[in-house]
Amino acid sequence: MKSNRRRDTQPELAVRREAHRLGLRYFVDRAPLRDLARRRADLVFPRLKVAIYVDGCFWHGCPEHHSVSKTNAEFWATKVEKNRARDEDTNQRLRKAGWTVVRVWEHEDPATAAAAIKDVVDAAKRERANRG
Ligand SMILES: [Zn+2]
Repeated sequence: MKSNRRRDTQPELAVRREAHRLGLRYFVDRAPLRDLARRRADLVFPRLKVAIYVDGCFWHGCPEHHSVSKTNAEFWATKVEKNRARDEDTNQRLRKAGWTVVRVWEHEDPATAAAAIKDVVDAAKRERANRG
């Protein structure tokens, strides 16, 4: 079965590039948890337990850009609903395991997204330092 999910899409690359420019170092396209092997995140900071997903506007139902064609509307709506439910499930499982999850829409400005990611990573670092 072919996955909907393509690797290294332009928006992913752009966010990665900007994050790298801000000095962030991360793993790419990696499962944050072993039992979420099929829900790989786009950027992963394993020690800080931060996972970043860059979500495609169509497949993940972006409120601004997800427009459904009139033909097969029900089919697509069901598919996107499923993706959204799975995204939410992924978020919950990761959070339960102590992870911070950031989801970026592919339409977001990559530099702005990377700055937001850096804030989250910096906060995770401080928290980790405080714990000793
Ligand atoms: Zn969008």
